[in-house]
Amino acid sequence: MSKPLPNSIYARDVEYLLHAATNARKHEETGPIVIDRGEGIHVFDDQGNKYIEAMAGLWSVAVGFGEKRLADAAYQQMLKLPYYHSFSSKSNEPAILLAERLVNMSPDKLSKVFFTNSGSEANDTVVKMVWYFNNARGKPNKKTFLARVNGYHGITMASASLTGLPVNHRDFDLPILPVKHLTCPHFWRFGLPGETEAEFTDRLAAELEQTILDAGPDTIAAFIGEPLMGAGGVLPPPAGYWTKVQEICRKYDILIVADEVINGFGRLGTMFACEYYGIEPDMLVVSKQITSSYQPLAAILFSDEIFQGIADNTAKIGTFGHGFTAGAHPVATAVGLENLDIIEERGLVAHAAEMGEILQRELRSRFTDHPLVGEVRGVGLIGAVELSADKATKQRFDPPGKAGAYLFARGHEHGVIIRAIGDQIAFCPPLIITEPEIMDMLDRFALALDETWAFVRGA
Ligand code: PMP
Repeated sequence: MSKPLPNSIYARDVEYLLHAATNARKHEETGPIVIDRGEGIHVFDDQGNKYIEAMAGLWSVAVGFGEKRLADAAYQQMLKLPYYHSFSSKSNEPAILLAERLVNMSPDKLSKVFFTNSGSEANDTVVKMVWYFNNARGKPNKKTFLARVNGYHGITMASASLTGLPVNHRDFDLPILPVKHLTCPHFWRFGLPGETEAEFTDRLAAELEQTILDAGPDTIAAFIGEPLMGAGGVLPPPAGYWTKVQEICRKYDILIVADEVINGFGRLGTMFACEYYGIEPDMLVVSKQITSSYQPLAAILFSDEIFQGIADNTAKIGTFGHGFTAGAHPVATAVGLENLDIIEERGLVAHAAEMGEILQRELRSRFTDHPLVGEVRGVGLIGAVELSADKATKQRFDPPGKAGAYLFARGHEHGVIIRAIGDQIAFCPPLIITEPEIMDMLDRFALALDETWAFVRGA
């Protein structure tokens, strides 16, 4: 990419927009890629270049781009009731129906829903609900959250505090809430030399329990985790991890919050990742694929026990002093209902399981032995290839992200949008992807990978 021409749309982008997760100085030199339209698993930029969206946008567009049924659902709802709020006992039909549907399709323990507009707002709300609940039940010291290094829970004040990635804390003066980040459950990177996967799981469980005991169990409120970590690098936990985490949390009356903002609605080949890992959360956070991100929407599903505690407190102090202007939005929830209809009617969860097997098999068979690849990992339709400067020693690149950034750019040249999380390359395509499309995506990636290998060797 070259410096944008004066007055072009690219120059105007540079003039007026601050971009998320972008080096703002580099962006002044390169300008943006302006995405213009989408169809199925593809997007097109304003120059007419076609890309496979191997990340479904930001892990989101389950049913693919250009799905008219979602546009129609939004349009019809806008004509009927474009907006209403959920304050002071007001409600709207799509929000009620979606809440009912989410409760019926999710793990048994979850029986109530609170809607927000983003995953970050949802996780901020989780923190507030947990504190409110613990105050209400006479446990005012139970305030600390347990999270993990490399976990991602959003970027608002509380959710970014839970996030375990330095870039989301540094120079933002975060974290602002009491949070302890435990060891990242990624065996390949964090396992000790000679340690088995089972020993790694045991070590992490021991660390969890010791952390609770050191702080005092009456100070620890909740454990929050993505069942399979997404934005931190697509990191499936070691075998037995979630069973142990749950046992320990139950023992010390610590709530379990499953953040399925990426995992939810079929990504791992099950409706929720909680099913895949046998997690029975007290709270479940979902977003993204709930509307295929055609509308901003997130939801917190939670247990009756938490609801009863909150409800009693509202009766005592008069009201639940929390809520968003656009929460339980009728258009977003109507799109959510239609999106879940499509997922069900087209059997997209079973399809994701089937395509997921192909994706995982192909990623491993094609790339495990590549000289640039340290690890290939993933479950269902989410996977990653981690680049390493030295396959044998798992050495990181210097500077970190150098190879990933190059590969990301080469991917664009070959018509595939992947994601480089440092030197970890993520794949998270729309759930509608087909076998030939997976092969096409990986063929393009393979070209970019080989070019990156040449770049790294200085060839
Ligand atoms: N939790 C997880 C697991 C996420 O992946 C994300 C977004 N990538 C969030 C929370 C935050 O969601 P949002 O960007 O909608 O605020």
